[in-house]
Amino acid sequence: MRVIFLGTGTSQGIPVIGSTHPVCLSDNPKDKRLRVSVLIEWNTYTYVIDCGPDFRQQMLNAKCTKLDGVVFTHEHADHTAGLDDIRPFYFKQGDIPIYAHKRVLKALKERFAYIFETQNKYAGAPGVMPIRIKNEPFRLGDLNVVPINGMHYKLQVFGFRFNDFAYLTDMKTIADEELEKLKGVKVLVVNALREEEHISHFNLSEALEVINKVQPERAYLTHISHMLGFHDDVEKKLPKNVFLAYDNLQINL
Ligand SMILES: [Zn+2]
Ligand SMILES: [Zn+2]
Repeated sequence: MRVIFLGTGTSQGIPVIGSTHPVCLSDNPKDKRLRVSVLIEWNTYTYVIDCGPDFRQQMLNAKCTKLDGVVFTHEHADHTAGLDDIRPFYFKQGDIPIYAHKRVLKALKERFAYIFETQNKYAGAPGVMPIRIKNEPFRLGDLNVVPINGMHYKLQVFGFRFNDFAYLTDMKTIADEELEKLKGVKVLVVNALREEEHISHFNLSEALEVINKVQPERAYLTHISHMLGFHDDVEKKLPKNVFLAYDNLQINL
């Protein structure tokens, strides 16, 4: 299995438009972060988790030529706003499967009504095959994927386990029985916004606490704000099996 971090930034991305914060002005490519998403490939399958406003650029960066589906964590715009840009895949492959909680499917239907239109649909619009997921394992390709339920302040959000790899983003709290589902995972990705507390996202110490409970071989932090600091400075402060993810980072499992 190969995982590509397509984006590792929080909702505004880094640099933030118009910001003069030193991290936003950094020349280090690792300090430039598109909106959060990962591409996961195994055997002949290719899926992405979330499809934010940078999706087009991310598919070009990853040289992605085929997409078997999009799996959504939740409906926030930084995770969904790029849905229209699945068009090149739709034109080649037909309706693209999208997997989401029923609340998220409803939000997508409201925001992208033209995509879900059944009568007089515009020929240039993409098509999707909505697949509702619950907090129980579901099939992607030849794999059973395990949803991990978390809370993003008051909003339910799904993380996902793909065998030895698990991906959690936009979480603020997670129940112990959900953490149990992560036991034995080799690579764990967890959101870590910044050092200061935040109402709806883990800060750095909360993310490290989750990692400490799960005890993966390696962990990567994502959904990062410029307020966390320069990539190279932050990484020096982390435990030896914890890394900051960065855009275009690839890991093989
Ligand atoms: Zn987000
Ligand atoms: Zn969110």
